[in-house]
Amino acid sequence: MKRVKFGAVKPEGALRASIQSDMDGCIGHLEELAPAIVCDQDIYGEDRLTRLSKQAELGRKPDEHSEFEGGGTEVQFMWWNSESQSNWRDGYVRAALLLEDPALRKKADDYIDRILATQDEDGYLGIYGTDLRYRHTTENGELWSKSTLYRVLLGYYEATGEQRVKDALVRAFDNLMEGYPMGSSDPFLVDKSFCGHCHGLTIVDALGGMYELTGDEKYLDYAVWLYERYSANEVEEEDLTLSSIRNPHYFWKNHGVHLYEHLRAVILAASRKAEYRPLLELVRAKLPYYLTPSGGPIGDEWVNRRTANASRTGYEFCSVTELFDSYALLLEKTGDLSVGDDMEWLYFNAGLGMKHPTESSIMYCKTDNCYTANRQRNPGDVYADERYKYSPVHQTTAVCCVPNMGRLTPHYVQNMFLAEDDGFTASLFGESRFTGEFGGVPVTIRQL
Ligand SMILES: [Zn+2]
Repeated sequence: MKRVKFGAVKPEGALRASIQSDMDGCIGHLEELAPAIVCDQDIYGEDRLTRLSKQAELGRKPDEHSEFEGGGTEVQFMWWNSESQSNWRDGYVRAALLLEDPALRKKADDYIDRILATQDEDGYLGIYGTDLRYRHTTENGELWSKSTLYRVLLGYYEATGEQRVKDALVRAFDNLMEGYPMGSSDPFLVDKSFCGHCHGLTIVDALGGMYELTGDEKYLDYAVWLYERYSANEVEEEDLTLSSIRNPHYFWKNHGVHLYEHLRAVILAASRKAEYRPLLELVRAKLPYYLTPSGGPIGDEWVNRRTANASRTGYEFCSVTELFDSYALLLEKTGDLSVGDDMEWLYFNAGLGMKHPTESSIMYCKTDNCYTANRQRNPGDVYADERYKYSPVHQTTAVCCVPNMGRLTPHYVQNMFLAEDDGFTASLFGESRFTGEFGGVPVTIRQL
C-alpha cells in the first residue's frame, strides 16, 4: 500500500466542518492568542540561535529544566518555539489547502515564501547560527526543528507541486546529510540528552517523505542509520531503542509523546531490514496494554511503567496525534487494514473527546472517565494540574497540544484512502472526496 499525496483527499461534511471550526477558532487565531510564541521570535530567520542568544519567551512553564539556565549550554535548549511554530503551521497550512479558502491560502503561501527566504546559500534551513549548527555537545533542537518544518513543506509540496519547495527540501537535506554525514558522525551523541534531542528522531518522517518525493533510497538508508545511532547512544527517551525492545522485562516508562512518535522509526527500520521485523511485532504486541478504552495512549506525561486505566491514566493531545501518525505509517507499510480501525477508534474517541463540544478549546490531558475538567484529574484531587482543563492555548503548561490538535484532522483526511497496484482502498470512514488517476484514467471516489 502507498500513501496518497496530501490534498488528494478533500474533507466533506463533518470533517470539513471540524477543520473549518478549528480555523475559525484557536488554530486560525493562534497568532493573536500566543503572539510571543508563534510570531515574535523569528527563530528560523533573524532570531536564529547563536552562542550569544538570550532566552526568548517559551510556550512552557519557566520553572522546568532550570538546570539548563544560567549556564553556557542553555542556548541549545531554546529550540522550543520552533516546535510550536512549525507544528502549528503544519495544521494551519494543511487546513488552508484542504478548505481551498482564498484568504487562508494567501496566508499559507505568504508563510511558505517567508520560510523559504530564510534558507542559506549552502542549503541550511533551520534554527542555528553558523557557530552552533551540527556541533552540538548537549541538548539541542537541530533535527527536531527541521523535522517539524520539513513536514509542513512536504505537505505543501504534495498539494501544490511547486518546484521551488521541492528544490528547497532537496538542498536542505543535502545540507543536513553533509552536516551529519552517514557513517562518520554521531548526531545523538551528546551530554545531557533531553527532549528536543530525542524528538529529533522524528526527522525520519521527512526522510520517508523525501523518498516518496524523489524515489532516492538514500533518504531511507539515512533514516535507518539515524535510528541505529539513536539506539547506540545514551538517550533520555529510551523506550524504543533496539535494546529496550529486545529486553523482555522492559516496561515503557519515558515521556509518552516521544514513545508514540518513535514508533515510526521502528516501523521504517522494519520495512528496510528484515532483522528488525520481529522487533516491530514485539512493540505491536505490547502497545494495547498502554491504551485506554478510547484508544488514548498513556501520556500524562510520563508512562511510568503503568498499564492503562480509564480513570487513572491520562493521555496528552500530542500523544494522540503522534500515535495516529505512527498508525498511519504502520498501515501503509504492513497493509494491515485493522490498523485503520485503530486510527478511527483513536480519532473519534480519544481525539475528538479532548475537544470542547461547543468552544474552540481542548484539554491538554484527559482520562476516559472524565468527571471534571477544572484542573483536577479526578474529583477530590488535592493537586491542581493545569493540563486537565479546557483552553485554546494552554500556555500555563506548554503550547504543544493545541498545534497538534490542528494537525490531527488534516492528517486523518490524508489517510482515508491508500493506493494499491490494482486500485485504491478506502481505509478510514468519513465524508470525503478522493481524486486520483488509475491507468491514465481520472478517478473520483466519494464517501457519503
Ligand atoms: Zn502537548
